[in-house]
Amino acid sequence: MNEVVSRAVEIIRNTKVPSLRIMEVCGTHTHEIFRMGIRKLLPENVDLISGPGCPVCVTPVDYIDEAIWLALEKHATICTFGDLVRVPGTKQSLQTARGLGGKVVTVYSPQDATAYAAQHPEEQVVFLSVGFETTAPSDCISVKNAIKEGLHNYAILTSNKTMPGAYRAMKDSADAFLYPGHVHAITGTGLLKELCASGVSGVVTGFTAAEITTALATILTRFQEGRPFFENCYPRVVKDEGNPAAMRIIDEFMEPCDAMWRGIGMIPASGLKLREAYADYDARIKFGMPKIEGKPNPACRCGRVLQGEIKPCDCPLFGKVCTPEHPVGACMVSGEGACSAFYLYGNK
Ligand code: SF4
Repeated sequence: MNEVVSRAVEIIRNTKVPSLRIMEVCGTHTHEIFRMGIRKLLPENVDLISGPGCPVCVTPVDYIDEAIWLALEKHATICTFGDLVRVPGTKQSLQTARGLGGKVVTVYSPQDATAYAAQHPEEQVVFLSVGFETTAPSDCISVKNAIKEGLHNYAILTSNKTMPGAYRAMKDSADAFLYPGHVHAITGTGLLKELCASGVSGVVTGFTAAEITTALATILTRFQEGRPFFENCYPRVVKDEGNPAAMRIIDEFMEPCDAMWRGIGMIPASGLKLREAYADYDARIKFGMPKIEGKPNPACRCGRVLQGEIKPCDCPLFGKVCTPEHPVGACMVSGEGACSAFYLYGNK
């Protein structure tokens, strides 16, 4: 164990705090904290709760149904990250749609999707554009490249989300927040300072053992001071100004829109859609998509898990009906999902 981790662990073990709820906004933090056994270090009265920062988990059922509609009704080739293929829609998943003749190709980036479109000019290709500020720049660059290369068989189906609205919606859900370093590497720290000024405490951090334990030790220490705090525990990556070039490319191609978050509902101006100038690359417009309203499985408690109201193991389906092999909700599918983390590593 290196010196930084040892010192942080000592603080975590020895700091006496009253009951404290810390929300891991980011699903990667949830998984890394479990994987490295950090939960076991925390005092009993410190509770780590999951938040809305897993992009696949917060993508609503309607969106999966839209992608299936494109695959089966419009015979578009769907290019997507692997996790989304297994997320249940209202009646089926993209994996099921594949079995019904839909073409669903797993890719690792939107650039893979434009390359696929270039190699298959006879197919109409749609990339499933989900994620936060971290991934939106590369989604925009894929449209920019498609325009540059004259690819008329490429479009994106947007369900991009931005964190400010989610933070405001969740601000009373925890005593302190563990903010996602990769998002704030793009957006900077301005919003987090504003939240602090309005009484919301949190620490932004990275994903190594040293970064996570330092952040938790900081929260425990600062919480004792009894006033709102913000600290950047990831200064090698997160700068106050963020990444202006990445923010510019988002702003050039996308504009804010109201967005549905699975289980949370509509959060005003918390989504991104392509600007009108790029309508030819917007799959909903290009294919004349009707309004599709999905129905989530009423037994799934993903919404309450994503708001930190319950632990995954409090869901009656957890580990019985719902497992990573047979997921009922998105939180059990995604590699960043809280339910899959609890299933893989067990509670505490
Ligand atoms: S265990 Fe399954 S059904 Fe329950 S909340 Fe998680 S994903 Fe939904």
